[in-house]
Amino acid sequence: MKFKKLEIYGFKSFADKLEVKFESGVTAIVGPNGCGKSNVADSIRWVMGEQSAKSLRGGSMQDVIFNGTEARKPQSFAEVSLYFDNTDKIFPFDYSEVVFSRKLYRSGESEYAINKNPVRLKDMVDALRDGGLGKESYCVIGQGKISALLSAKPEERRAVFEEAAGISKFKAKKIEAERKLERTRENLTRINDIVFELEKQLGPLAKQSENAKKFLELKEKLKSLELNIYVYQYDNASTSKADIRTKLEGI
Ligand code: ATP
Ligand code: MG
Repeated sequence: MKFKKLEIYGFKSFADKLEVKFESGVTAIVGPNGCGKSNVADSIRWVMGEQSAKSLRGGSMQDVIFNGTEARKPQSFAEVSLYFDNTDKIFPFDYSEVVFSRKLYRSGESEYAINKNPVRLKDMVDALRDGGLGKESYCVIGQGKISALLSAKPEERRAVFEEAAGISKFKAKKIEAERKLERTRENLTRINDIVFELEKQLGPLAKQSENAKKFLELKEKLKSLELNIYVYQYDNASTSKADIRTKLEGI
């Protein structure tokens, strides 16, 4: 796994577009105090989904946007793109190069993209984790982290080893699956309640349905009886008419 390239624009001290190419071998960023070396490392953690402004050494997330200097106006957004070589299919995409991007506007609106296609933060975090770069991953070790690691409690150190062994992504998946299971269980309880309610209505509804059926039967019967009456009345009237005509002719 290797970073190929990092593009920074409007992030922290980088008002202009900065491109860092990671050639084979060691890439080191050297410079005087305060020149922005740690900002480069911050940008890598930021593009990989870091949500804590504090750990990016800011008060709010908007603090990562270039804030201007005496000679330059502030930027309206910050954007970072991190390029990976994906010929070994480290990430589950059919591309030989994968680029993760994150953009944040002053309004607070943010955008995430994989190969320039907009995605949700979760999709990006999942993809990175599939590649072994979890948010809690040890892939970026900040100033003072080594000594913290050495003096950490065994359980805390274990988390780092698990990340290195590639277990933590399965652990995260397990936690998510358990959460889904719990939600499904709650849904099931709710469905059982509904079934119980509906079953209570079943008795009265059966009675109503029986009544409706009887009504239809009786309605059919009524129709045929009414027809019979009309036929009978017609016959009677025809006979009377014939009688009256005979009488009339006699008179
Ligand atoms: P050191 O060698 O002391 O660790 P460094 O090279 O790591 O220094 P950084 O901490 O990366 O330096 O950079 C600090 C500089 O970044 C400061 O000058 C600070 O003013 C500037 N800076 C941080 N955030 C912003 C911002 N939003 N807009 C403009 N400049 C910023
Ligand atoms: Mg520094």
